[in-house]
Amino acid sequence: MNPLRELPKVDKFITHPLFEGLNTHLLTRLAREAIETLRDRILKNEVNCVDETALLQNVKTAYDKLFEPSLKPLINATGVILHTNMGRSLISETLLERAKPIICNYSNLEYNLEQGCRGERYEHITGHLKNLLHVEDVLVVNNNAAAVFLILNTFAKNKEVVVSRGELVEIGGSFRIPEVMKQSGAILHEVGATNKTKQLDYQNAISENTAMLMKVHQSNFTMEGFSEAVDYEAIKALADKHHLIDYYDLGSGYVPKLPYNLGLREASLEEILALQPSLISFSGDKLFGSAQAGIIAGRKELIAELKKNQLLRMLRVDKITLCLLEESIKAYLKEEYEVIPTLWLLFQSVEALTNRVSHVRESVGENRCDVIYSDTYMGGGTLPNRKFPTVALHIKGKATVLEKKFREHHVIGRIENEQFLLDFRSLLPEVESQLIHTIKTILDEQ
Ligand SMILES: *Cc1c(COP(=O)(O)O)cnc(C)c1O
Repeated sequence: MNPLRELPKVDKFITHPLFEGLNTHLLTRLAREAIETLRDRILKNEVNCVDETALLQNVKTAYDKLFEPSLKPLINATGVILHTNMGRSLISETLLERAKPIICNYSNLEYNLEQGCRGERYEHITGHLKNLLHVEDVLVVNNNAAAVFLILNTFAKNKEVVVSRGELVEIGGSFRIPEVMKQSGAILHEVGATNKTKQLDYQNAISENTAMLMKVHQSNFTMEGFSEAVDYEAIKALADKHHLIDYYDLGSGYVPKLPYNLGLREASLEEILALQPSLISFSGDKLFGSAQAGIIAGRKELIAELKKNQLLRMLRVDKITLCLLEESIKAYLKEEYEVIPTLWLLFQSVEALTNRVSHVRESVGENRCDVIYSDTYMGGGTLPNRKFPTVALHIKGKATVLEKKFREHHVIGRIENEQFLLDFRSLLPEVESQLIHTIKTILDEQ
């Protein structure tokens, strides 16, 4: 018998009980494709009969695959809190709940409730941020890269921006200061040498075409040994003397005083803002621990100029970002750091971590794992070379095999000294029971 005659008709095929409840349009398309493919194979003599059960299953699998999420939640047991590849900072469920009424309803995003006319989207966050940072004015854009671009384009188009050669950094994800500057229309005036820049270098670079003295946080690298940089205070003093704008691209930026045991040398936002810079900018989702955004703070008349730039319309933030940021800032004002996961994780003491690791170790069997004391890094291009104490669970077994097995279960750990570690510095308590389950499942398979 001719196998072509056995090919099912699409209309009838999709009525099979296996497909109950599925979307008819999608199903018809997938069924047609599958049947056509089979027809071709019959014509090429690759198959000589129709296996309808297999065909049904293929179509069902194809359908299910369409709805498999591409973005999946992971358990970050690398120890790196701001993991760039895993979405940087987290939003806590508490903050999300607080922001929900705005995200899910119409709001006065750009509506002035008192006068019944158009309002300003940036205003909602301005008051809170000004209170938090004690600055004249602020502006929020899509990310810090956008902030850098907007600032350069507004104040330094066809003019020179003086930057130290030691600060012409690449942040990753193809953000390079010299390239961004070129795209913005600003002219880069590099000063100093890679390892050393002095105040006199900045001074000698200033001409009538200079618009700005810029300092860029080196972010993901540090210089050791024979090196010298000019601190922001001196750059600012020089800019003031020559009536120029000073701008510090901080990259990260953190608000509260961090626990002394972390040994950070970084200046906090408070310390930098005490110098009254013309402009600074930093990311919303690095150490600030909120949604992706670029936060600009500084002098009122400069922020007003930025708002007049047409580019702002292209770089503007969505209401979801705005209300998440607003909730984070309100949490900061109340010093409610426990609802900002980045800070909560960073602030955990070694004792607290040890308790958590020990608890998990007891639950999965003490003969199968050990508690390890180690160091980790912040990540996200922040605080390079700044090690933090951490505590990890060492899972006994071949590290590379375990790393892969855990990854298949969406748990990302790390290998150190040929040991597979689950580092608790970046691990939320909410995922602990799931982690215990995964560890047991994997170890029982072995
Ligand atoms: C991270 C970083 C940026 C880019 O910030 P995004 O928010 O990722 O766009 C720019 N400059 C510096 C110094 C940085 O560290």
